[in-house]
Amino acid sequence: MELSKLTISELRGLLDRKEVTVREVVDSVYKRIDSVEDRIRAFVTITRDKAYEMASVSGNRAVNDNSMPLRGIPIAVKDNMCTKGIRTTCSSKILHSFIPPYESTATARLIENGYILTGKTNLDEFAMGSSTENSGFHTTRNPWDLERIPGGSSGGSAAAVASDECIAALGSDTGGSIRQPAALCGIVGLKPTYGRVSRYGLVAFASSLDQIGPLTKNVMDSAIMLNAISGHDPLDSTSAEAGVPDHTSTLGRDIKGMKIGIPNEYFIDGMDKDVEGAVKKAINQLESLGAVPVEVTLPHTSYAVAAYYILATSEASSNLARYDGVKYGFRAAGKDLLETYMNTRAQGFSPEVKRRIMLGTYALSSGYYDAYYKKAQQVRTLIKRDFEEAFKAVDVIVTPTTPTAAFKIGEKADDPLQMYLSDIFTISVNLAGVPGISIPCGFTSNSLPIGLQIIGKHFDEETVLMAAYAYEQSTEWHKRKPCL
Ligand code: GLN
Repeated sequence: MELSKLTISELRGLLDRKEVTVREVVDSVYKRIDSVEDRIRAFVTITRDKAYEMASVSGNRAVNDNSMPLRGIPIAVKDNMCTKGIRTTCSSKILHSFIPPYESTATARLIENGYILTGKTNLDEFAMGSSTENSGFHTTRNPWDLERIPGGSSGGSAAAVASDECIAALGSDTGGSIRQPAALCGIVGLKPTYGRVSRYGLVAFASSLDQIGPLTKNVMDSAIMLNAISGHDPLDSTSAEAGVPDHTSTLGRDIKGMKIGIPNEYFIDGMDKDVEGAVKKAINQLESLGAVPVEVTLPHTSYAVAAYYILATSEASSNLARYDGVKYGFRAAGKDLLETYMNTRAQGFSPEVKRRIMLGTYALSSGYYDAYYKKAQQVRTLIKRDFEEAFKAVDVIVTPTTPTAAFKIGEKADDPLQMYLSDIFTISVNLAGVPGISIPCGFTSNSLPIGLQIIGKHFDEETVLMAAYAYEQSTEWHKRKPCL
């Protein structure tokens, strides 16, 4: 049995019954990494020694320790979450040698749960992008077709899960960066409600949108991971006090009578026919399970991408001001302090990051602020209200996750606007702060995975997961694996 191919819940059973040891699980994952990683390139840093150290600690824990649902499970972490003593780069030259002196809350909770860090995964620099092509180091490849991108920005995490180089992973989602790569790699990706998971120790891109969430092989594992990382954190003032239910407890419940909203704004011209067909079939499948489709309207959807790229770049321009060559990592010294700042930022940031800093600085500058930033905030409010209105009539909203399947490496690299449109179906969810999941719902005619997005009300991940689980259990898509 290849243990690396299993899920968290499958391994939990084997470990708790002592049919396998933690060490065997870790061995299996690194054996897999050794055989496929040179083709996939999902990782920035592989933490093998650390993993065996953690394995010997959790291997000694009592079995059936219910306080440790992730005991002995190898999990990869996107390289924009601080891991104490382990290099955290954001796939940026400017942080290439940054070793955090503290642990992010999300990973600290994984540690409390007994996890084993497999490695830090590749991303678009500072999580800005949809393909990992903006990584300052290398591009990750899609395990289903090595000529194609895995999506982004959490493309390393998604590719690592899809190719069984880890059992599950953490990603972050500012405008789609968990759900979009999950869709393109044929796995499950969940963006929780804004405030559900602490952002402490997540390197900030756009603080009002960023949220950490799990990338997993199935919906059950997504619920297990969400349980582990959720909950109030005094170290993050935007983390919510809302109580955290056991997200696995609603899985398996009947969805008969559940109202599923279908927004016509999400079935647009230019959308790939295979994607459209698969999503429509998935809606029929939900209906056959007893769900009731209801047409809903989200009338401000067409403004979402524009509003997002004003708000996200504005916040990024402020958040990235701290990388000045004095406090962190890379420094390109100049003749005086100003020149040091300028050289450091000119050499340390990639073109996409610079583009965003310039856009955001412009949008926030005096005289333009009202026309851009303030207007975008107003649009954001309208988008949030669209969801509030729609959720008066339905329990969840179902849409495609992406307009197309994975595209070729290089295909959109020179056209930032085309790249920005990859997130057309995921961005509104971040603007509204609601939770959304992407689950596998089919394949294109050239065998590339397609994702179904299920969106829920604030802090109602339970219903989202329940619908996702019901669909997943009635289909076989999540069982397919890429041939590597
Ligand atoms: N692709 C979007 C962007 O480039 C979203 C990124 C993300 O969610 N981190 O900003």
